[in-house]
Parts: sequence; C-alpha cells; structure tokens
Amino acid sequence: MVSVGSLELDAVRKEFADTVALDGVSLDIAEGEFFTLVGPSGCGKTTTLRTIAGLETPTSGSVRFDGVDVSGVPTEERDVGIVFQNYALFPHMSVRENVAYGLNFVEPPDGKSTDERVTELLDLVDLSGMGDREPDQLSGGQQQRVALARALAPAPDVLLLDEPMSALDARLRETLRRQVKRIQAELDVTTVYVTHDQEEALAISDRLAVMHDGRVEQVGTPREVYERPATEFVAAFVGENNLFRGEAVGTRDDGTTTVAVDGTEFRVADGDLAAGDLTFCVRPEDLTVDADTNRFEVTVDTVEFLGETTRYYVDWGEKSIVFRTPDPHDAERLTLGFDPGDARVL
Ligand code: ATP
Repeated sequence: MVSVGSLELDAVRKEFADTVALDGVSLDIAEGEFFTLVGPSGCGKTTTLRTIAGLETPTSGSVRFDGVDVSGVPTEERDVGIVFQNYALFPHMSVRENVAYGLNFVEPPDGKSTDERVTELLDLVDLSGMGDREPDQLSGGQQQRVALARALAPAPDVLLLDEPMSALDARLRETLRRQVKRIQAELDVTTVYVTHDQEEALAISDRLAVMHDGRVEQVGTPREVYERPATEFVAAFVGENNLFRGEAVGTRDDGTTTVAVDGTEFRVADGDLAAGDLTFCVRPEDLTVDADTNRFEVTVDTVEFLGETTRYYVDWGEKSIVFRTPDPHDAERLTLGFDPGDARVL
C-alpha cells in the first residue's frame, strides 16, 4: 500500500483516441485538505480524479503520493476510498453488509473487528439503526451516506468523491454537504471532490481548482477565486459576474485607470494597469443604484424576487447586466454605478 498524505499531479496529460481530456494538469493538494475540482461538463474533472485513483493511466506526466511516483501502482494498492455519483451499492445486501464490503480486502483499522468498524461508521454517517435495511429502503441521501461509509471503512488516507450529490435534490444536497464536510474534518482525510456546481464548490472546499478544457484555470481558496478571478472564464463561471471589455485610455493621479467601454468612461482601481485592451468585471452585489462613481443608465428587463435580495437583469445598450440589491426599485430606468475598487481587472 502506498501511503498518502499529500497528492501531487505534475503536468498530467491524458488522451483518449482523438480527445485531449487533460492538457497538462498540475496540482498540489495538502494532507487533510478538502480540495475540489470544479468546472463545466467535459472539462476533465472525472478524468483527473480517476487518474489519482489509478483507474486511468496518464499519457504523460506523473502523480505522486507523499512525493512517491505511483505510476504503475494499481488502484487497490493506492490508499484511496472512492464514492461515485450513482451510489453503486449492492441491492441485495443490507446496509451493514454493504459497508462491510469495504473491508473485504483490507483489515479494519486499529485492531477492530469488522462488526465494530461497521457500527462505528454507521454512527459516523448518522445511520445507526438502519443497518438491516436494504438500499431500496433508503432515500438517495441515505444511500449516498452508505456509499461514503463503505469507502471510509478501511480508513483510507485519501477520499475521492465524484459528484456524490448530483442525483439529490437541492435541499438534500445542502444537508449532505454539511455532513460530508463535518466527517471529512473529523477524520482529517485528504479529500478530492468533483462537482460541476460552483456554489457547492465554494461552500465545501478548503481550496478549489477551476478547470476548463482539460486545464486548470485557477487554484485558490473559495474567497480568493471569488474575489480575485484570474481569468475571464473563472470570473464568469464562479458566481455571477458582469464583464466589461474596453480600452485603457489614461491613468489618474489617484491611481485609478480610465477605461473606455462602448464610449463610456469608467474608473477602475486594480493594480498596475497597462494601456490597451482591457477587461474588468464587477459582481452583481457591487453594482448599486445611484452610486457616486462610474454611473451608467440602464433599462430594467427582468426582476426576480429572491427573498433576501432582488436580482435585476438590465440592459445597457446591447449589453445585459445583472445586479442584486436588498432594496427593491420600481423604475424602468435606473442609474447604476460602482466603486472603482470593486472592479477586478482580468
Ligand atoms: P462531466 O461533468 O460531464 O462528468 P468531466 O469534467 O468530469 O465532465 P471528463 O469525464 O473527465 O469530464 O471528460 C473529459 C473529456 O474526455 C471529455 O471530452 C470526455 O468526452 C473525454 N473522455 C472521458 N473519458 C473518455 C473515454 N473513456 N474515452 C473517450 N473519451 C473520454
């Protein structure tokens, strides 16, 4: 068994016939970290996870567990527990038998008996008392917790979760994600979690990698990725955003740069700005009605009441803009604006 604390992927490339699934993926995942791979369908998340598990062999590049290259080490000799999207429980086995299956090839940890270990895991995933049921007598969320208990039974050093919640409804996903997070923190198991749901990725991760077209666009904490998106793709994929493409036309004494967008000049304060074409983004919550700076007039298109806030889709010339505010506005025409410090240059 190759022991794992930290995980490293170094320039991993994976080709399937004429598809390049991974195009040079490098990641450094720390021991005990909850690390998420997020991105749209087909971006290479599952292939990355399967490569870590040893279910796929990289075309080139390497995977290291605690600094040791694991190329050629089969899945069963990598110390990983895996949970897939579709539970994959055995239908004619009880919950206890399903969890015990995780111990078929490995001794239970700490000298425990299989029975003791199964009881302990059912406790951990809040399913004690359901051990004798069969999977079809459980809800989707409960089935997924059985799958989690089975993967954790041998006490793996790494837990790999591939869209474990995608088949569940929204409310259940939120509950389960809190449970998964709690269990992960309690066990301190290095975890790689795959999801296409950016909100889930922000909520659950210590750090995340945003993937696109077989590449990693950005790695960071949820806050870093949200507040400082590195690329246009990340800015648009993680949370809602408004992208403004324009041209830098000058710098002011206060350090802000003037950017002309479709004939309107905006001031943005974000690092050293060069002249030339420039794209910046402003989050919906950073656009305000009747702001002091960077004002522009818009026409309201659609209004969505969301409870705590109201979301407005508005038109600024040809461009559609989204903003959110706790204060509802009735007017059809509004003047929006934003603080120069809230614009992020990409
Ligand atoms: P999804 O969220 O839809 O599962 P993903 O981000 O997990 O997507 P992957 O499943 O890793 O993406 O797939 C990445 C690319 O590799 C896709 O273009 C996919 O069609 C291709 N691919 C994956 N597995 C295979 C395979 N076994 N044979 C051929 N192509 C594959």
